[in-house]
Parts: sequence; C-alpha cells; structure tokens
Amino acid sequence: MELWGASLYGDPCRDCGFDWSLTPREAVVLVGALPARYAGLVEGLRGDERLPGLAWNVTAYVSHVTDNLRNWAERLAGARLSDAHRVPGYDQDLLANARHYAEIPLAGALWSLRWAAAAWAESVSAALDAGVVLDHATRGSQSTEDVARNNAHDAVHHAWDIARIVAHRRGSSTR
Ligand SMILES: [Zn+2]
Repeated sequence: MELWGASLYGDPCRDCGFDWSLTPREAVVLVGALPARYAGLVEGLRGDERLPGLAWNVTAYVSHVTDNLRNWAERLAGARLSDAHRVPGYDQDLLANARHYAEIPLAGALWSLRWAAAAWAESVSAALDAGVVLDHATRGSQSTEDVARNNAHDAVHHAWDIARIVAHRRGSSTR
C-alpha cells in the first residue's frame, strides 16, 4: 500500500508545517483562498525561477497544484454522478512533461488555478454532502475528507516551495 497524507509527510508536515487536523470544510475554505494566496506569493516573479535541487520552477508548481485539484475534483464528481468509485494513481511528472509546465506563462497558470480551485470547491462540497468514498488503486479507501485534506496539503506544501524560491532569490540579490 502506498503511503500518503500524514503518514507520508508527518503531522504536522515536517516540511511545510501543514496541520492535518483541519476539517474538510476548512480545507474547502483554504482551497477557495488559494488563487489569491498564490497570486500574492508570485507577485513580481517571471515564473521561471527555481531552486537548485528542486525539479520544478515557480510556474510548474502552480500548474501542478492546478492539475492536482482538477484531477481529484473530476474523480469525486465521477464517483458521485456515476457511482464508479475505483480510481487509478496518476504520474505527476509525466503530466508535467506532457503539458510542458515550465513553459506555461505564469499569468496563464494563475488564470487556470482560479477555475480549478472554484471547480474543486464545488465538487468537494457536493461529495462531502453525498459521502463519496473512492477506492484508490494504490492507497485503498479514500474518503472525500481524506481527499480534501490531501489536496489542501499539496497546495500548502507547494506554496512553501515557492516561498523558498522567493526567499532564496531575495538572499542572492542582497549579496
Ligand atoms: Zn507539507
């Protein structure tokens, strides 16, 4: 079985400090506020900034968070609307390569994030009301509550990655 969530990252997350005890409804509020949070984080950046040791640049992190939200919103909607609960894993690096994340203009990536966050909030809220539980190929049973927390963590974790890139840049420019 694949490790995920708090068992993979620690509670709180040992990197970004995410507290896994938030409620699913709090996760919905958090994701709803993501577009503004990310727009603030990347203000003044081009998007191609990166840290040595991190695979992705700023735009790629934004695009990954967007696609992750879209993917899970679709899965929850699929289960809720058709009663098909079995979902596969997905390879985030293959998706990043296929979509050429690093070459997406940052403004376009932020535009996409806005729609993805809104669609996600709608789908997760409806799935919470319906009590949707997914059957994930490598993680086993995933309730909507699990998905909500996991996706909120992904977004917070990569906001932390972007903040590290920004901090590194500030450090280099003052030297
Ligand atoms: Zn984290």
